[in-house]
Amino acid sequence: MDKVEEHEVVVIGAGFGGLYAVYLLREAGFDVIALERGGGVGGTWYWNRYPGARCDVESLQYSYSFDKELEQDWEWSERYAGQPEILEYAEHVSSRFDLEPNIRFHANVEQLDFNEEDSSWTVATNKGLYRASFVIAATGCLSTTNHPHFTGVDDFAGPTYHTGKWPHEGVDFSGQRVGVIGTGSSAVQSIPIIAEQAAHLTVFQRTPNYSIPAHNQPLDPNVQADVKAHYDELRAAARIERSGIISPFPINEDSAKAASEEDFRTRMNQRWDHGGFSFYRAYADIVVDPDSNARVADYVRNRIAEVVEDPVVADLLSPTNTVACKRPCLDTQYYETYNLDHVELVDISTAGIERLTRRGVVAGGIEYEFDAVVFATGFDAMTGTLLAMNITGREGLRLETAWKAGPRTYLGLSVPQFPNLFTVTGPGSPSVLTNMIMAIEQHVEWICDCLIA
Ligand code: NAP
Repeated sequence: MDKVEEHEVVVIGAGFGGLYAVYLLREAGFDVIALERGGGVGGTWYWNRYPGARCDVESLQYSYSFDKELEQDWEWSERYAGQPEILEYAEHVSSRFDLEPNIRFHANVEQLDFNEEDSSWTVATNKGLYRASFVIAATGCLSTTNHPHFTGVDDFAGPTYHTGKWPHEGVDFSGQRVGVIGTGSSAVQSIPIIAEQAAHLTVFQRTPNYSIPAHNQPLDPNVQADVKAHYDELRAAARIERSGIISPFPINEDSAKAASEEDFRTRMNQRWDHGGFSFYRAYADIVVDPDSNARVADYVRNRIAEVVEDPVVADLLSPTNTVACKRPCLDTQYYETYNLDHVELVDISTAGIERLTRRGVVAGGIEYEFDAVVFATGFDAMTGTLLAMNITGREGLRLETAWKAGPRTYLGLSVPQFPNLFTVTGPGSPSVLTNMIMAIEQHVEWICDCLIA
């Protein structure tokens, strides 16, 4: 029989959720171990190293609030931090609070079984067995990549990359013909940078996305000092804000559809020029009133048409669906990139990607030849990583059976019939629709309080 390592709490993942869970539970006196499949801390920010990867919540808000000295000491360099800086921050937190002794790296959880007889969990990993009274799945919402099984995908002679699992050593596309499949947030961020390097870039778009400018810039030291001087108030306000993000503009109850043309233009232009998600809070009813939503959607489409010189391309890039229904993108020079002679947009909305060949990608009956192909095809989001862990709860109930009709949870924190198993920002919680680090802190604190009680 395999040796079993026993702990009070097993945390799965050492991203921002797992790191805070280890810290808080250890402070509370629990014997806790985190199992992390990566070779380092950081979770999402450990894996997503694609060019241009950047958080679209401002760095002064996308950061931990639990330690006042950490909050004051850490200096952010940009309005929105890039992936290297966020990963550095996660590594700093891990070493500052000496969390690594409580983390096992390269430990992939393969199975999780609830033991009725002693209400414990057995956690099977590639590194051996663990047993714990409590398991906290801090596995992230976007941590299992979506790799469409295109016909012929293995025939392609060149390298393929996935934005969510980017090589740590980076990729140099200089002089290459590159194909990018997908136009979600990861694509919107990486396309302008890949275009700077590539000899030719072809983007395959199934559905266009709304994107508004981030207006990223070096962080003004005075702004940083001012926020740090008022951090407590800012964090307290963010905790009761629906998105967990504080905007510099006042919250209002105004209606977009009722606004005069002049008020609407002025307000939307102001938000567009400021950049960031406060754009969607310009009026209170943008996400609840179809006419108000349509007016804002029109505004974005007009903006796209102003930037993109070729009207056919502008039209293809213009979404027709509800704005802010799918999580919107923030960009730096995304639409401008399509004005470059060596960048081409291919509409695959009707027939999709037909197949890959040794030379490239076939769509609409045309073979596009590439030196490299990038899959910016996203994730098996929210439930994918949890389901992949083969979880069995009370009376042999498997999680995929319990969730056959979709995930059912208690506030995204726990699942009926899976006792003492907690999920951090699990399905059913606001998670990616909010400031993730704030959502993580709230969940981890609730779980810790629950374990103490
Ligand atoms: P995504 O938003 O799911 O986008 C995936 C893209 O791939 C979509 O354009 C999708 O088209 C396309 N696609 C998927 N399967 C395809 C197929 N079989 N054939 C052709 N196209 C296909 O993924 P993502 O861009 O990686 O972003 C995921 C989430 O991560 C975002 O919603 C956001 O929450 C988060 N994110 C945040 C940031 C940030 O903070 N700045 C950055 C990146 C990502 P369809 O739309 O037609 O399905």
